Amino acid sequence: MTRKSENAATLSSLLGITDEEAANLLEVPISITVDESDRTGRALAHELAKLLSRTVTSVEINPKEHTASIEVVIGAAWPKTSHILPVTVTEGEIQIGGSAARKECSSEIASVVPLIAACYTAGMALKAALGDSFVLPGPSPTEGMVISIADILGEDQSWIERETLFSDTYLAGAGAIGNGFLYGLSHFRPVGTLTIVDPDKVSDGNTNRCILFQDEDIPHPKALRLAKNAQSMFPFCELLPEEATIQQLGKRKDGRWLYRLIVAVDSRRARRSLQNEIPGEVFDASTTGAVECVLHHHKQPTELACLACVYHEAPDELARERHIAELLGVDIELVKQHYVTPEAAQQITQKYPNIPQQELAGQAYDSLFKALCGEQRLKTAENRQVLAPFAFVSVLAGVLLAIDVVRRLSQDDDAPNFNYFRLSPWAPPVQDLRQERPRNIACEFCSQQVLLETARRIWTRT
Ligand SMILES: [Zn+2]
Repeated sequence: MTRKSENAATLSSLLGITDEEAANLLEVPISITVDESDRTGRALAHELAKLLSRTVTSVEINPKEHTASIEVVIGAAWPKTSHILPVTVTEGEIQIGGSAARKECSSEIASVVPLIAACYTAGMALKAALGDSFVLPGPSPTEGMVISIADILGEDQSWIERETLFSDTYLAGAGAIGNGFLYGLSHFRPVGTLTIVDPDKVSDGNTNRCILFQDEDIPHPKALRLAKNAQSMFPFCELLPEEATIQQLGKRKDGRWLYRLIVAVDSRRARRSLQNEIPGEVFDASTTGAVECVLHHHKQPTELACLACVYHEAPDELARERHIAELLGVDIELVKQHYVTPEAAQQITQKYPNIPQQELAGQAYDSLFKALCGEQRLKTAENRQVLAPFAFVSVLAGVLLAIDVVRRLSQDDDAPNFNYFRLSPWAPPVQDLRQERPRNIACEFCSQQVLLETARRIWTRT
């Protein structure tokens, strides 16, 4: 039951309650009411049920009996109870809670919009289901929120219909964000090939946030399973799985490789180490626990922030690694390698004989730690720093990443000119948080003149 306990651990830390209380709260049933005739509304309902069912115990669309704590009422559907959260999508807006219009959802919208709406509705539905006595981030269901679709897709959305050519493109990380990325990307028209790289295997805890993984994917390689499960959504783009890290692929021979890298790995250190491969263009999304998503983009040669600038080593990161090392009984230098080596697995099983050694080798320390925290095998207050996001948080990060990739590659005139964007999955995006981040002078990559020179030499396009 790792899946349930990971969600409970995340909620308990957000609310400052015990895991047991949180687990009880997540038993809350949620229902969704939608009219059969509302095409966009039905798509929204379907996505919402898919996301919420990975977080709470029971979600039903148009149930026969109404016993749910909260009823999400989509479009002009007639409510069946008095505890409702109204949601609708107009041509320009996603309206959730508050004074959301009670009218049928617009059909004049891009196909990705119901999915975006579902991600934001999931957070609000959770708030509504838990009631006023629990405070989660962002506006309350009574206040409601309105998300401008143009804030996410731009004013001119003609780029959506264009084909996006993928060649020499790598997706690093087939976990929660990698899943969300492909799920979002399926609403666009990628053509070519995409290599999916991940050395890790699917574990029980993964299925609560990886939208394209099911129980039968445990314990198979993430990259293989993601490619297999997602391929049918991409008739013109071949997904090529590699059970390895980008570094292990070892293709950096003549210097010029990794023309384009999409980053969905699960730790700051892993992101920084990808910068050492000197990728030509980077699209990146990450989540900070369940409270924030971050998007980053750069293209070499650049004078602005690189991946290692954005995910510069934070003091609490070292403290966390030390903490992981201590609790697992592993040398800190081994933790810094990011993946559990056979040597480290041996050390861990000495301290935790109940964890089978073969389950450990190859796992990312962060994933392992999240799983063990969720299972209460390693329970302390400090473990709160490593929290698994809810499904809707990872999916939102992945979908926004897909939008960023397609939009920039389609050479949209209106393409975003930021290289760093922080946003909350619990509130509408704030445009002012789209920034042009300068280089970090202490960056482990940019502070080395020789690396900057190499990047310039390799990637100066003629
Ligand atoms: Zn840098």
